[in-house]
Amino acid sequence: MSFTGATHSEAMGVLRYFLNNTTAQELQTSVLSALSHQTLFSKDVEDLLAALERLGIVPPLARTAISETHPRHCVRCHNPYVERDNGLRACRIPHTDLQLTVPTVQANSATGTISTTARTHVQRKFSCCNAPVGVDVTVQGMHFVGRHTTLTANVVYNAINVKTCGERGCNATRPVSQQ
Ligand SMILES: [Zn+2]
Ligand SMILES: [Zn+2]
Ligand SMILES: [Zn+2]
Repeated sequence: MSFTGATHSEAMGVLRYFLNNTTAQELQTSVLSALSHQTLFSKDVEDLLAALERLGIVPPLARTAISETHPRHCVRCHNPYVERDNGLRACRIPHTDLQLTVPTVQANSATGTISTTARTHVQRKFSCCNAPVGVDVTVQGMHFVGRHTTLTANVVYNAINVKTCGERGCNATRPVSQQ
C-alpha cells in the first residue's frame, strides 16, 4: 500500500470512528458552534464547504438559496421571509387556547348531572388539533414547526390557527408569490 493510500485509509478510519460515535444532533451542534467561533479562518470554511460539495453532501441548491433576495410570503404563518433565512425550525405556529372536553361521558339524562367518575375523564386538549395537553404545559410543543413555504399543498389548513391567505386577507397586500 502506498503512503498516500495508507494516509487515506487512516483518515477514512478516523472519520468513520468519529461518525459512528457521534449523534446527528451532536454533529450538527458542533459544526454550527465551530462556524460561529470568533477565530474561525475563512479558508477553513471554504475548504470544508468545497470538500462537502465535492462529496455531494452539500447540494448546489444551497448556493442558489443563499444568493436569493426575492421576498417571499409564507402561506402557513403569513410572515415575509427570504429563502436564505428558511430552515427546519423557521416556521412556527403555536397551539390555540385550551379547551376542556368530555369526550365519551354524557350527562345523566334523567338528572342532567355528570357523575363524579365522569368528571375525572375531562381532558384538556388544544382546540386547533385535539392534541392532548401534557402534564407540564411549559414544555408544550408547538402546533407546527418546520420550513416556511409558498406552496399551499404543503400546508394543513384548519381555519383556526392555520388559515389560508384568503381567510387572513393577505392576498391583496402581497406580491404574487414565486417559487
Ligand atoms: Zn394545535
Ligand atoms: Zn412560515
Ligand atoms: Zn398569507
